[in-house]
Amino acid sequence: MTDRTSSTLDKQTEVGSYFVATYPPFSAWTDAAVERDGKVALETPPVPGVPLGLYLHIPFCRKRCHFCYFRVYTDKNAQEVNDYLDVLAREWELCAAKPAIAGRPLNFVYFGGGTPSFLSTKQLEGLVGRLSALTPWKQAEEVTFECEPGTLTETKLSAIRGIGVTRLSLGVENFDDEILELNGRAHRSPEIGRAYAFARSLDFPQINIDLIAGMLGETDENWRRCVDRTLELSPDSVTIYQMELPYNTTISGNLLKGTGRFAQPVADWPTKRRWVREGFEALEAAGYHVRSAYTAVKNPERTRFIYTDRLWQGADMVGLGVASFGHINGVHVQNFDTWETYSAAVRRDEIPLSRAYRPTDEERFIREFILQLKLGSIAPSYFRDKYRVNVLERFRDQLDALKAEGYVQTITDQTVALTRDGLLRVDGLLTRFFLPQHTGIRYT
Ligand code: SF4
Repeated sequence: MTDRTSSTLDKQTEVGSYFVATYPPFSAWTDAAVERDGKVALETPPVPGVPLGLYLHIPFCRKRCHFCYFRVYTDKNAQEVNDYLDVLAREWELCAAKPAIAGRPLNFVYFGGGTPSFLSTKQLEGLVGRLSALTPWKQAEEVTFECEPGTLTETKLSAIRGIGVTRLSLGVENFDDEILELNGRAHRSPEIGRAYAFARSLDFPQINIDLIAGMLGETDENWRRCVDRTLELSPDSVTIYQMELPYNTTISGNLLKGTGRFAQPVADWPTKRRWVREGFEALEAAGYHVRSAYTAVKNPERTRFIYTDRLWQGADMVGLGVASFGHINGVHVQNFDTWETYSAAVRRDEIPLSRAYRPTDEERFIREFILQLKLGSIAPSYFRDKYRVNVLERFRDQLDALKAEGYVQTITDQTVALTRDGLLRVDGLLTRFFLPQHTGIRYT
């Protein structure tokens, strides 16, 4: 993780992970902990009052984007997709029978990928029928569905609305066809406008547009146009990620081998941060509110992100599908990360876990602290009440240093708040709060 220090973030975008999704780092999770901790957690009744979520990984895409680092397949036929959905439904039957899960209502559901909208209407409705027969999710506060604009028809969008989706997340990433092509995206700009108009006409409670700052070929002028175009569409929320290059992307592989395939470098970190800053400022000028390092929302009263809010406060979540992550009764778990090993385990009627980690109380506290910092501020009272920890004392050195560097604005008993500079590079700052044994190791 030496590649994610603050000073690196003042330079070129090099190959390596940047985004902090959880704590401790994935590389600390082990297969030995699957039996000892992961499966024991599933056999243990839940802690009363802890919400439960469900994540479904739909690992299919029309094309693999050159910057993609997820487990996705672009070569599966309809029968193979059906087989996968059978396995997914069976996995939920196995999980839902466990004491940790049985009888609990779902607070949130998240269809991620991959491309959930790759599924046909029939496949989607079949899957949801099987899952919700076992666990109705009508009461869920939020059902999110990630879409690739080119896969959406009006009929499919109606079906997506019909299964109870509350937030439709459109993976726009960029509005320029040349940039979309250069980065290996499957969709083109006319499909964005069409999909957005269909979605609006169907009255989804929340439509989110995803953008990426720093795609190959990005320029100041084009980025401004992307932000302007987003404002014209007026979505309920906008998510902006800064392009990173983890090891397993096509771009990273070519860079490391020196093939010269991608002649244009990814913009450096200061440029990407400037683009996000400008994007946020334009959104704020139009009435949006910045709610995290990646997200701006039009109406904070109405538009919420239950999925991240719950996870960042230690909710339970079952992750179904190949390579999916979950968190049960305080234990991190991940499924087998190949199609073959994952499906074979479920077909043997086994919960398909490949690695797990039971964080200590201190590690759970650190996890929530760093994840909630992504919101731009944390309330010390939350950590006093939940973990009996005074964060101002526990992290005095780190917070004072961050304040001196201009990344923290306020340190009081009521709040610890980042500056906009701090928020825009928050993932690069979070490692400072890691325990010493986790600072020098690989993240993934
Ligand atoms: S659409 Fe998303 S999941 Fe699919 S290849 Fe592109 S980045 Fe990866």
